Amino acid sequence: MSKNIFLCAISNINSGTCNEDCKFCSQSVKYKADIERYIQKPVDDIVEEAKAARASGALGFCLVTANKGIDDKVLKFVCEVARAVSAEVPNLRLIACNGTASVEQLLVLKEAGVKAYNHNLETAEAFYPEVCTTHPWQERYETCENVNKAGLTLITGGIFGMGETQEDRISMLKALKSLNPTSVPLNFYHHNAALPLNPNPLTTDEALALITLAREIISDADRIMVAGGRELMFGARQNEIFEAGANSIVIGNYLTTKGRDKSSDLEMLKSLGFGVAKTV
Ligand code: SF4
Repeated sequence: MSKNIFLCAISNINSGTCNEDCKFCSQSVKYKADIERYIQKPVDDIVEEAKAARASGALGFCLVTANKGIDDKVLKFVCEVARAVSAEVPNLRLIACNGTASVEQLLVLKEAGVKAYNHNLETAEAFYPEVCTTHPWQERYETCENVNKAGLTLITGGIFGMGETQEDRISMLKALKSLNPTSVPLNFYHHNAALPLNPNPLTTDEALALITLAREIISDADRIMVAGGRELMFGARQNEIFEAGANSIVIGNYLTTKGRDKSSDLEMLKSLGFGVAKTV
């Protein structure tokens, strides 16, 4: 495992406006979760976040919109943001995460400076109807294939702890492997009382074992990233995620939940003898 840890930061540039019914997602309008909702974050604010992320050592910066997929308005906005961030913060690798997307739309994002696209499979194909009924799992898979066809770097992962079986988890990991992703974000379901799922039943030991399993199954991926739910799932044991097989984390806040203070994460990495990755 690399001694350097790849840091990624995310910006929710459009929040809480999605009409889909994903039961794990507080951004769906259906569940009325108590989160901030806005159509477009001001571009200047996003640029400032990007500067702060870079200053903290982040190499990746992900522009996330809460919609099922890209429409013309979303595409225009993400391109505008990508150009503004690229101009002001040149050494940041831009990632877009805007839902289902065609090859043509992905090529437009690429032209605007986006280097990678994140679209998660979320869970196994067989379990997916239990957590979402408004769009099929297959659409998610096809968008990931489109990312590969467009020549963007593919980032795809999923969520553990939504009530899926171990068989489902293995099935999802194998599906992820089949897409040949560069980076695999593993999220651990962070329960919100407004959402219809039960709280995450995983123990910390089980979650660590899942990181190891992901690393084993998706052995060709450059990065196994621990993303949402890290603080809640691993608490004081989060130093163990690296031993388990992770070599990338999200720093700062998540889409609708607060992360740890960035300096705490940087101190943790230093105390473990890890550096911060400076190149992809
Ligand atoms: S499509 Fe995406 S943003 Fe919309 S509810 Fe599902 S996970 Fe959330």
